[in-house]
Amino acid sequence: MAEMFIGGEFVRAEGERFPVVDPATEEVVDTVPLAGPEEVDLAVRNAHEAFQSWSATPAARRGDILLRAAQHVHHHLEELAHSLTREQGKPLRESRLEIRRFVETLVHYAGLGRNLRGGYVPNLDEGTYGLVLKRPMGVVAAIVPWNFPTTLLGNKLGPALVAGNTVVAKPAETTPLTALRIAQLLREGGLPAGVFNVITGIGPVAGEALVRHPLVRKVAFTGSTEVGKRIMALAAGGVKRVTLELGGSDPMIVCDDADLDAAAGAASVGRFFNCGQACVAVKRLYVFESVAEQFLEKLLARVRRLRVGPGLEEGVHLGPLHMQRQRERIEQQVQDALDRGARLLAGGRRPEEPRLQRGFFYEPTVLLDPDPHSRVAQEEVFGPVLPVWRVHDLEEALERANDSPYGLGSSIWTRSLERASLAAERLEAGYTWVNSVNRIYDELPFGGVKQSGFGKEHGLEALDYYMETKSVVVRALEGGSG
Ligand code: NAD
Repeated sequence: MAEMFIGGEFVRAEGERFPVVDPATEEVVDTVPLAGPEEVDLAVRNAHEAFQSWSATPAARRGDILLRAAQHVHHHLEELAHSLTREQGKPLRESRLEIRRFVETLVHYAGLGRNLRGGYVPNLDEGTYGLVLKRPMGVVAAIVPWNFPTTLLGNKLGPALVAGNTVVAKPAETTPLTALRIAQLLREGGLPAGVFNVITGIGPVAGEALVRHPLVRKVAFTGSTEVGKRIMALAAGGVKRVTLELGGSDPMIVCDDADLDAAAGAASVGRFFNCGQACVAVKRLYVFESVAEQFLEKLLARVRRLRVGPGLEEGVHLGPLHMQRQRERIEQQVQDALDRGARLLAGGRRPEEPRLQRGFFYEPTVLLDPDPHSRVAQEEVFGPVLPVWRVHDLEEALERANDSPYGLGSSIWTRSLERASLAAERLEAGYTWVNSVNRIYDELPFGGVKQSGFGKEHGLEALDYYMETKSVVVRALEGGSG
């Protein structure tokens, strides 16, 4: 039985528990406690106490501690990848990648510990200068979803900890196990007790109690737009800072001068990685009519080669969807598109293989020219379904790409610098990739516009979201004006 990690140790909780289910077999892997306000309070108080000494530790030393702790996590990569696949469903290869990315992000921010700095403004008045201080905020609540349970946690932990804050994380109720083990490993690797705590439980109870807690100064949230709005409203009650990384419906534009092989490969990886459950997955594809047939042929050849199966099996490309509910939603979205006249080019059903009858499997699916009002065009499609539209030119592609409430990522495939520059200017998104797939770099700020949220993760910019800026005026000389 797994327990919550509070104040540097696992804490036994009484009361109700929640089963963690393997999406490939529907077997219960373990159970976790459902935290209520009391457990949340315990975790936040531990984090608050730890904040006093962690924030006073020199930033470079915080970085060194974080580096060593991250390396300790890395030594357990295989074990963690296995645990992630069991609770999340993704292929082992992707789990390994995810754990590696988690460690890399921590290492990246550990290095930045030596670069935290504020500002100095001379001669504000005669004999008077100003300082711009950057100070840690206090306890940060990190609330993350189930699609990338560890990298999305790392994106918050790295900048929050190196800036001197302490963290209470609440993973999704369905993927708490790897996060709990990581908390233990970070502690073993030298992170002081209470600096990083993990509570388990459901959003409306444990999550809301965490957001409302008076000692929580900042909420870093990744999840759906709907819940993001709720968190923003709750945080307003305590005038707390929030970073919201929400849903997306990323468009990919394939022009007639694109490298079609590379674009088809990117569309396949971009859509079907993590069984399509990625915030920056390619969720709408617009291809120039003149090359559509050629492009689709290449894309479909790749899609046919994708192997669906349990994530623990070697050679599998697509694991199951994470939840039954998730699969049902995808099925309804596909049905709606077909009812409104879309053409089914691949998939569109559960696999028939007898061994895949348990688990939440779904075949990689490609739809052609769905109605622009259909659900796959207007909603986020969080599964292995790629809707493709044929367009006349870049103007039409850009207009349709921007016709979405979301604005997270976007991409364009072209050999023309002019087209690429135009798209980078006009696509309403926080990220535009030119001739590349949806890879996120620690060096570049990441975050959405429109209903995809606000605030940045990654990059130097992320640090600003975990620090207060304070001005100090110093009247240094006798007789200086003040
Ligand atoms: P979700 O919003 O349902 O849940 C996310 C987290 O919030 C979970 O830990 C959940 O328990 C918690 N939560 C739910 N209700 C809450 C409440 N009332 N108060 C406090 N916490 C609450 O999201 P999901 O379905 O688990 O995740 C999928 C969504 O996340 C998709 O929309 C996806 O695009 C988005 N996402 C965005 C990014 C990004 O960086 N922008 C990255 C990954 C996923």
